[in-house]
Amino acid sequence: MAKGLLIIISGPSGVGKGTIRQAVMKDPSLNLWYSVSLTTREQRPGEVDGREYFFVSEKEFADNLKRGNLLEHACFVGHHYGTPLDKAEEKRLEGRNVILEIEVNGTLQVLDRLKDQDVVSIFLMPPSFQDLEARIRGRCTEGEKCIEERLKKAKKEMGMSAHYKYVVTNDSVERAASEIQGIIRKEIELARSSMTK
Ligand code: ADP
Ligand code: 5GP
Repeated sequence: MAKGLLIIISGPSGVGKGTIRQAVMKDPSLNLWYSVSLTTREQRPGEVDGREYFFVSEKEFADNLKRGNLLEHACFVGHHYGTPLDKAEEKRLEGRNVILEIEVNGTLQVLDRLKDQDVVSIFLMPPSFQDLEARIRGRCTEGEKCIEERLKKAKKEMGMSAHYKYVVTNDSVERAASEIQGIIRKEIELARSSMTK
């Protein structure tokens, strides 16, 4: 069986990665599996351990890192985030197309580490910086200091979109999700045809 793709959905905090990822995953024909990350940040109201993230202590995070079980990891606004390697690899070997929803530094690590053609990197861009600020504020999950830090970081991250294979503007959830579904469909087809050559 062909190994599944590794699809990275990235972009600044608050651009809509989680919202778009959920919309993209509604198409069962894409055979997608979402890789739940580890994080040391606090759980937000409504988040479920094991669904949005595995909420772990600093020690548990460090243990995973030491065991070599993180495909990539990053520190974002004072907290650690990382992708468990074992599950993502297991699912890809089962033929599932694995989605990571991660920030820019982690993406660069994956692109450096996995030079295979099966990595599909997608940067989600806000229609404007003002829209991004409104989305972060509208979500009401962070205090003012944290919002300012996330916005400062977003400016830098948006300048790094050239490292990605695709840049998609999240102007409307339906349109952006449909564009990404189209990209994934095309990449599945490309991987299939390169296997039969
Ligand atoms: P991220 O996962 O990138 O941090 P979220 O998915 O949590 O972002 O989205 C941040 C906020 O922006 C949420 O309140 C979400 O409902 C809103 N949002 C997402 N996409 C759009 C869009 N296309 N238009 C308007 N609001 C959006
Ligand atoms: P949040 O605290 O808003 O959930 O996430 C902060 C940032 O960390 C977001 O840009 C999110 O995509 C990113 N992130 C979530 N999980 C991971 C991960 O496993 N690795 C990396 N590098 N970034 C992640």
